[in-house]
Amino acid sequence: LESLRLRLRSEGTPKERGVFWRRLMQSQAPDQVLARQEASADKIVEGLLSGENISAGEAFLVGAGPGDPDLLTFRALRLIQMSDVVFYDRLVSPAILSLLPDDCERHYVGKARSDHAVPQDQINQRLVDEALKGRRVLRLKGGDPFIFGRGGEEIQQLAEAGIPFQVVPGITAASGCSSYAGIPLTHRDHAQSVRFVTGHLKDGTCNLPWDELIHPQQTLVIYMGLVGLPEICNQLIAHGMPAETPIALIEKGTLPDQQVHTGTLASMPEYVAGRKIQAPTLTIVGSVVSLHSTLNWRSGQ
Ligand code: SAH
Repeated sequence: LESLRLRLRSEGTPKERGVFWRRLMQSQAPDQVLARQEASADKIVEGLLSGENISAGEAFLVGAGPGDPDLLTFRALRLIQMSDVVFYDRLVSPAILSLLPDDCERHYVGKARSDHAVPQDQINQRLVDEALKGRRVLRLKGGDPFIFGRGGEEIQQLAEAGIPFQVVPGITAASGCSSYAGIPLTHRDHAQSVRFVTGHLKDGTCNLPWDELIHPQQTLVIYMGLVGLPEICNQLIAHGMPAETPIALIEKGTLPDQQVHTGTLASMPEYVAGRKIQAPTLTIVGSVVSLHSTLNWRSGQ
């Protein structure tokens, strides 16, 4: 930038130079420099200087993290701030949406459980259509786009249509909730492995490989498991997990109104039935949950 600044000092009006800098910062050039592809960054700079139109459309599949905007990555924030149109899910918090440029066109494509607001193939197609118009399309998803996020399906269609895209990882609910609840997912005295599964019900049951989930030194993290929670607890006990195994339910993890509910496999179904627990919730099962009472650094915040 320093050498470019010297080179451009006497070229054009200040306003023209302003336009150039903005277009440069919004182009692929900064990413190319960060990726040590300086030659291709130079090419973009020369293209912009010669007035070539490089505003071909592109798409960004971005993980927005579990809710607290402080948990966005720098790259996510940078792409959020330069998007022309956004397609976002229910799990993307209002605080994160407030970071979008004022003139960014917003489309809600979220789903309530079992009620798909916009069918998945239509979302995929709309991303392609908007990028083909030459726009910068932001697909903003809760958590990490590649963990129970269908991110793979969405970029497959972009790839088939030849649209340039990038994927930005996000802090997945398991990481965000475990940190903010003071429940380490692994710990030398408790668990040497951790397993992420979905507790989503299909035809009223969870199709999980129960026998594989029963390991004394393994933490189990269950996404989308609130409705199926009684069945999950009962099945784990039926397949040999001790009924006294600790379990935590983290409601609205990382958000200001986060709540952590703890109990045992035996007690949790009744506990949940007696309360109005709100989605999103994440379930953690295993002896690491016992650490919550001493490591809960957010209590009183
Ligand atoms: N791609 C997302 C997960 C999408 S599946 C990720 O990586 O986090 C949706 C499930 O994620 C919810 O049903 C819930 O189990 C979990 N989840 C997402 N955000 C959460 C939050 N803030 N608090 C608790 N659970 C959350």
